[in-house]
Amino acid sequence: MAAAWEARARDIAEHPMPADLQRVVDIMCNDCETKSPNRNWHFLGIQCPSCNSFNTVVENVVSSGPNAAAINGGGGGDNNNNNNNGGGGGGLANGGTR
Ligand SMILES: [Zn+2]
Repeated sequence: MAAAWEARARDIAEHPMPADLQRVVDIMCNDCETKSPNRNWHFLGIQCPSCNSFNTVVENVVSSGPNAAAINGGGGGDNNNNNNNGGGGGGLANGGTR
């Protein structure tokens, strides 16, 4: 089966998921029963880092969409527009006593 897994891995490498479809998932391998957190989800399957099998199941979705893309360091800059318009003003204390 290893050859088949290699072909699958190649397919996945050639077809990265678009950022808005990316997910970070925890998986469990049916072949070696290794649990692997924070794997990149792909519709073709998720490879077990321990035995390279794609016979894995998603146990938990950690993150999805642009957040997942950020976790995986896949492109896309931060769009943090913090518009802090702190209230101005303060009264002018003209205590001009004469
Ligand atoms: Zn495995």
